[in-house]
Amino acid sequence: MADYTQNLDQPVVNKLSGTDKSERKLNLLERVYLPEIFKGMWYTFKQMFKPTVTYMYPEERWDPPAIFRGRPVLVQDNGKERCVACGLCARACPPLAISMQAAETDDEKERFPDFFEINMLRCIYCGFCEEVCPEEAIVMSKDYDLVYHSRGEAIYDKEKLLVPKEELKDRLDFLKEYKNKQFGQFWNFKQDNNIHSVRDRDADWNTGLSLVDMLEAEKNKESN
Ligand code: SF4
Ligand code: SF4
Repeated sequence: MADYTQNLDQPVVNKLSGTDKSERKLNLLERVYLPEIFKGMWYTFKQMFKPTVTYMYPEERWDPPAIFRGRPVLVQDNGKERCVACGLCARACPPLAISMQAAETDDEKERFPDFFEINMLRCIYCGFCEEVCPEEAIVMSKDYDLVYHSRGEAIYDKEKLLVPKEELKDRLDFLKEYKNKQFGQFWNFKQDNNIHSVRDRDADWNTGLSLVDMLEAEKNKESN
């Protein structure tokens, strides 16, 4: 077995040493480099005749697909925020980018965020806030170019966060298609302002049941 202990009088031969016999010798063409240079130029020349995929940003902008996760925004529905300031998004946000203060109102929703802020310097666009929101009130938008001149400007308040639902149609449709298929099954879901309340749940339901038990009960009800 080879002895790798350090001996400064007789250093161990390693792979980088010029005396290593296994190193491949370059042939003449490889040593003059010219064929490789011409190969590179030929490749570049061929690309000139292919269709361009480069956008002339910012004049030309890329329109991302609905699955894209741009900056999180608050959904404005019929002139109001859908958010009920439950705090779930702030709780789920890994870098603690969200802060809010709840206030009460006499409207059907009862609560709304008095202030709602996202520190965009902290946001990592993970989408957890959207994932946990029970009101579909915070969603990932298509905005990807954010510019600030100071740390203060990077803190987005309600004014910057609220976006009318019509402008978020792609994402809301995407969420309906892939995530929110359960709406209307157990809650009294009202499309108007995305209100769903357990208060008005069908009187037949035993409110002590878990979701799994409710599904089971519904299946049994259908089969009878
Ligand atoms: S955005 Fe959604 S999760 Fe966050 S506080 Fe509002 S209702 Fe709750
Ligand atoms: S996308 Fe992620 S990091 Fe950004 S605010 Fe939502 S939960 Fe926080």
